[in-house]
Amino acid sequence: MAELRHDPDIYDTLEALLALDMRVDRALVERSGNIGARYGEWVDAFGAPRARFLRRPEFLACQVELVRALYGTIAANDTVIIALPYELTFAGHVAERALELIGATLIGVGTSNTICPMPRTLGLMRRYGASSLVTSSSRALELARLVSLQGASTAPPTLHSLVLMGQVCAPQRRDKIAALWGARPLQVFGTPAVPVVATPCPAGELHLCEEWLSADVSRPEPARLTEGRAVRGELVLQAACRSVDDTPIATGELVELWPRERRCACGDERRVVVPVGQIAEAVETATGLVSTGDVERVLFDSLDLDPEMTITARRDGFRVRCTPRRDEGASWAEFARWGVERLRVGLGVDSDLERVVLENTGAKPTTRGEVINEGGAP
Ligand SMILES: [Zn+2]
Repeated sequence: MAELRHDPDIYDTLEALLALDMRVDRALVERSGNIGARYGEWVDAFGAPRARFLRRPEFLACQVELVRALYGTIAANDTVIIALPYELTFAGHVAERALELIGATLIGVGTSNTICPMPRTLGLMRRYGASSLVTSSSRALELARLVSLQGASTAPPTLHSLVLMGQVCAPQRRDKIAALWGARPLQVFGTPAVPVVATPCPAGELHLCEEWLSADVSRPEPARLTEGRAVRGELVLQAACRSVDDTPIATGELVELWPRERRCACGDERRVVVPVGQIAEAVETATGLVSTGDVERVLFDSLDLDPEMTITARRDGFRVRCTPRRDEGASWAEFARWGVERLRVGLGVDSDLERVVLENTGAKPTTRGEVINEGGAP
């Protein structure tokens, strides 16, 4: 990677470390056949905790890829808060190790616990002059909302970058979340079970980590977002490097995968993957699966919305709870009808749009209860 050429020592060290560990683990694999190295949990589509072991070569490969992605954004003189929820535990572990290799100062706080709730996380960010926050898009939004409730003076003035891991977020929404922090966003695509799958490039695309992963999609459909011969379907990953379990992993993530011969504007030859949401939250239509990520992209393309948004799949479409960025008053009905129409034309789904009014009295939004759908304008 271009950034690492400025510091070949760390690149060589990491590669050597990875190669060494692979040889060690290869011997272990041959002896025992089972070398589960690190336990973590993720939440399946039904909300149940599911166990996963990440083997040491996979764990190290993810660290190497994350160092490559972060290098140039986070440096040794940075102080980084890592606030990832428990269900993204692997992402948190990998982020800690990768940042340690870069040499940054780390404050790992987790989230939603009694010792370090959100207000204390904000307090730590201010007290230690945090320059980067590693978290999920929804936690970044919750923390930003807390800043607005407490007053702008509680925002840490030193923050320059926001690293988002573990959840898919439409690019327009991601940029609006980062703007709340006045920080540069950097989004890394991973799943709860495979924490680093694709890393961002200067052209704004996500490149598959092909040095250790190969990817395909199951039940391929024509792409909706990507021109050309890209395919859409459930992302299936397989380890491409030595001594990692090469059983295909069905990730439950809906993605579009660029054809191998199509090159990104950045010049990187690795395949581009466009994540669009979880299969469990997608709706089957006459023209294929439509995900919450598709809905996000269409709505942020066509309406000026606050990044606070909830999208719930129904049998025939989606229920969207959202907030216009400006108080449009009586024109809300027209505003929402336009959104419903864009979703019908762009995605072929019926939807309801409900306006949520963000109050300054608590961390959670309250609903004023105005629902617009395709059949019943007020
Ligand atoms: Zn690129």
